[in-house]
Amino acid sequence: MTECLFCKIASGATPCERVDETERVLAFRDIDPRAPTHVLLIPKQHVAESAADLGPDHGALLGELFGLAARIAEREGLGRGWRLVTNVGADAGQSVFHLHVHLLGGRPLRWPPG
Ligand code: AMP
Repeated sequence: MTECLFCKIASGATPCERVDETERVLAFRDIDPRAPTHVLLIPKQHVAESAADLGPDHGALLGELFGLAARIAEREGLGRGWRLVTNVGADAGQSVFHLHVHLLGGRPLRWPPG
């Protein structure tokens, strides 16, 4: 059995607050939200540990993920602006090594993030 937290969430073995999904992508609320809207988008399959492992073969999957993020942002009323973040490695604060993208919005977001 997999030890990967996001694989367990994708399979339903670990509960999550599901927001939406497509055939290959699941969106759920971050358990420790950093903004009024903080949704994680993950491939249901463990295709990569992070963005560092992506390549041309992942193009369609990433298009599906970004498209779902945009639909969620619209539904959550984030017309003033929103951000997608994907952390790679320890210095970036990555804590779960299953590719994921954070969708953040609902308040002014500082830039640069620091
Ligand atoms: P990262 O630090 O970029 O690897 O992001 C991992 C994110 O997963 C963090 O923002 C955590 O708050 C979030 N997280 C950890 N466990 C859970 C969980 N069980 N359900 C939802 N989000 C989680």
